[in-house]
Amino acid sequence: MRISESQIRQVNHQIDALRSADNFYGKKLKEAGVTGITTPEEFESLPFSEKSDLRGAYPLGLMTPPEEKIVRIHSSSGTTGLPVIIPYTAKDVEDWAIMFARCYEFAGITNKDRIQITPGYGLWTAGIGFQAGAERLGAMVIPMGPGNTEKQLQMMQDMESTVLCSTSSYALLLSEEIEKRGIKDKIKLKKGVIGSERWSEKMRARIAESLGIELYDIYGLTEIYGPGIGINCPYNTGMHYWDDYLYIEIIDPKTLKPVPDGEFGEIVITTLVKEGAPLIRYRTHDLSRIIPGECPCGSRFPRLDTIMGRTDDMMKIKGVNVFPSQIEEILQKFPEVSSEYQIRISHLDGKDTMRIYVETNGSVNFLELADRIAAKVKSAIGFTPLVKVVENGLLPRSEKKTKRVIDERYD
Ligand code: ZN
Repeated sequence: MRISESQIRQVNHQIDALRSADNFYGKKLKEAGVTGITTPEEFESLPFSEKSDLRGAYPLGLMTPPEEKIVRIHSSSGTTGLPVIIPYTAKDVEDWAIMFARCYEFAGITNKDRIQITPGYGLWTAGIGFQAGAERLGAMVIPMGPGNTEKQLQMMQDMESTVLCSTSSYALLLSEEIEKRGIKDKIKLKKGVIGSERWSEKMRARIAESLGIELYDIYGLTEIYGPGIGINCPYNTGMHYWDDYLYIEIIDPKTLKPVPDGEFGEIVITTLVKEGAPLIRYRTHDLSRIIPGECPCGSRFPRLDTIMGRTDDMMKIKGVNVFPSQIEEILQKFPEVSSEYQIRISHLDGKDTMRIYVETNGSVNFLELADRIAAKVKSAIGFTPLVKVVENGLLPRSEKKTKRVIDERYD
């Protein structure tokens, strides 16, 4: 999806604001000689920004308007090194709430709903984003924050919550507690709005079935407002995102060139109207693709596919970008194989080769199963892997994270 003329005008306003602020990012643009753009090609030559750049601006180097316009800051988790501080103006806070309210609307949530919010409040963008959007919609908010499952379940029953906002892991935990206590008939939940951590189809089906609710994936990141910049609609054909606030491009993370719609790559986001801390071509390192064509819901908002993982997970084989999650998804469709698998990539006789090891029990025909898996992989990613079926328990187990992909080409 190429950048439109009106989006180019908006990007120029962002560039002007950054340059005249002469802040961390404004200086970078000046060093790169960027004064503005007139064509999509010029846009594609603008420098990228990275989380490590933003860390370098700590604490308030990203602040773009005069300080009296800043009403709040949020911060991304500082698990590695310094956190990133994002300043928000009153308009940014409002825009975020508008986008989040739109997310709820796309999920069919209305001002008659009672929304129980379990993500955390504070420096993190989660809880407060869910709340501001819900209030803007006019729904009743039950602002629980995380943990205290006993109290969560009590309020869920007493307040007759109809919508649960949570991470996928907490939704799973709550659904299991509800089953364990046999209180499902006292729960009035109809929908779940689930934060953007990657989760498998198996887990999704388990939560939806156990709670008897529809699930919606919400997308977002602290550097770009927070959660609420995209969500799937009831047709569940990818997440619609708000291109009146953001321009999203998908790039090949190796060549850094934009890829055509429909192809997988890294999500790169440019804010179009942000005041507190505009960002140009921000590399998220999240992998997805833009889904071409129109959604059956009729919305004009473009769609991103489910997040397939992070760029660090990507493998390039025979010129094709492949993610472990694509293979995992295919294997999940074979009930006869265990959850363990291993992918080995090697370079033999001048060609890349992918071998997939899977486990099963002795009651199936190994060769026939291998052929069926190979055929499914071929139809999904375009080339045939070598599939080796082994007895259950033969693949390595680990107490920590199991290494599932071994690339022998670079050993
Ligand atoms: Zn739709």
